[in-house]
Amino acid sequence: MHGSLISTGLHKLGKRLIYTSAEFLLLLIGQELLMRRRIEQHMHKTATQEVQVRMNEFLSVASHELKTPLTTIKGNIQLLKRRFKHVTTMAQYPTGKDVEQFIDESCNLLERTDQQVTRLTRLVNTLLESTRIHGNTMDLLFELCDLNTLLREVLQERRTIPETRTIQSIQSETDEILVMADSSRVKHVILHYLVNAHKYSPLDQPIIINVSQKGRLAYVEVRDAGPGIPPEEHQHIWERFYRSKKVKVQNGSEIGLGLGLYVCRIVIEQHHGQVGVQSLPGNGSTFWFTLPIQETGFVEFS
Ligand code: ADP
Repeated sequence: MHGSLISTGLHKLGKRLIYTSAEFLLLLIGQELLMRRRIEQHMHKTATQEVQVRMNEFLSVASHELKTPLTTIKGNIQLLKRRFKHVTTMAQYPTGKDVEQFIDESCNLLERTDQQVTRLTRLVNTLLESTRIHGNTMDLLFELCDLNTLLREVLQERRTIPETRTIQSIQSETDEILVMADSSRVKHVILHYLVNAHKYSPLDQPIIINVSQKGRLAYVEVRDAGPGIPPEEHQHIWERFYRSKKVKVQNGSEIGLGLGLYVCRIVIEQHHGQVGVQSLPGNGSTFWFTLPIQETGFVEFS
């Protein structure tokens, strides 16, 4: 009798214990889920805020960068207009030395205006390129091309980099490095690396560009003797709108939109290649990218 009472009691207690444990477990799971949701919401909020801050910074830099060349262009045109008006209203047309000086000064003004137009075009092109990216992809036109030829073409068209800057080009020993690529976009990547190397390193230091073939990969490296980039920023510089606050522009007045390297990364990744940087503060930077070599036959790209 006593035995059966004790066993019923124990059974009830066991059941109660199981229920309580289950309730406790459910409570714990509920709390854990709630905590996770809160962390996720917090992370999402922080990420959104970060994007918002970068976006605001970008808008302010972009408007400034677009306005500066426009102001100079407008000023130069007004100056030229005034000069021409002055000459045409003069009682006597200037002769000899005066004409020479007039032409020289006007050419100078036109040259400076042209540089500002180039700067504006570059900015608008970068903006346009970035808007063509949808979900980390952009439309590309693949064709068989030789990287050595692309590099030569970039160096011939280096309008934004002054002649006073030495660019040493080390081309591969092989005559041709064949890749399946959108030539204009790959040229844009090479030029962007060169323009950055020029922008962020002292003018009296050479920029070295190296094209080589390692196994089934083509390598393009652009080395500068600039201040270098802190390791913690190596990953971020490829993100949209990211600009390092620790690296100062050394040449040219163009600040930049923090879009260039982002576009470069998307272009190269879509070619099934990789981008990267090797750099330490005080030791310059080497920006590189790879592309798969097109051996023989025809390869289809997605
Ligand atoms: P930006 O137009 O601002 O130069 P990029 O996307 O080209 O934008 O570069 C992102 C950031 O990476 C730059 O703002 C700069 O801080 C850093 N960077 C790029 N190239 C170099 C370089 N050669 N040396 C040092 N810093 C660089």
